[in-house]
Amino acid sequence: MSAFENYRRIAQDVARCAQENGRNPEDVNLIAVSKTVGVPQVEDAVRAGAHHFGENRPELLAEKSEALPDENWHFIGNIQSRRIPQIVQHACLIHSLYQESHADKINAAAAEMGKVQDVLIEVNVSGEESKIAATPEEARALLDHCLALPNVRVRGLMTMAPQGDPQAVEQTFAGLAALADSMREGMAQSDAEVFTELSMGMSEDWQQAIKHGATMVRIGRAIFSDAFVG
Ligand SMILES: *Cc1c(COP(=O)(O)O)cnc(C)c1O
Repeated sequence: MSAFENYRRIAQDVARCAQENGRNPEDVNLIAVSKTVGVPQVEDAVRAGAHHFGENRPELLAEKSEALPDENWHFIGNIQSRRIPQIVQHACLIHSLYQESHADKINAAAAEMGKVQDVLIEVNVSGEESKIAATPEEARALLDHCLALPNVRVRGLMTMAPQGDPQAVEQTFAGLAALADSMREGMAQSDAEVFTELSMGMSEDWQQAIKHGATMVRIGRAIFSDAFVG
């Protein structure tokens, strides 16, 4: 199976799953996570209709977005301070913001480039402390912090579910959706109107994510790996 065929099939499955859950297929954006493949496979997916790609390494984000500048490039990896200008230069959306110091640096880099950087706050829904995600409490504080930054716009929340435990997966996705709803309640209308995105669901659990309201699913192996059996 090629990326072309896999993307076609997954895109159809995602649309059907949205419909089965009473959702508009246009409200679920399929992000093809291309972090393990090169430009030729990305081009293959583009021919199948893919226009949103996810990368987790700043240098590969830069390389591929420069090769294919008409596509939409999402940064989904761990943020390192010194890489922030490169990420801001190339990412339409940063999915993995979890700390205030990074928000400040994103704001500064975006201001310098004359852009407003869209971001998602990455949350560890179970509330466990994590080095790469905010607890729900930290997410609320980080949102307030970002609302004061003119060149950062928080578009919603992102999470990763624990692998291999279906019940924990459901709890994680339901929990992220509930957290987003409760955060939205406290926001000014103009901020709430753009706080609409839930980035959740990967190759093995995107169906559950769509059921719980995902607006973006990030799918890598099911599109780009021959070894993946869904
Ligand atoms: C790699 C990655 C994905 C895609 O995972 P697959 O299991 O290959 O679909 C999604 N989100 C993040 C943050 C990733 O790092």
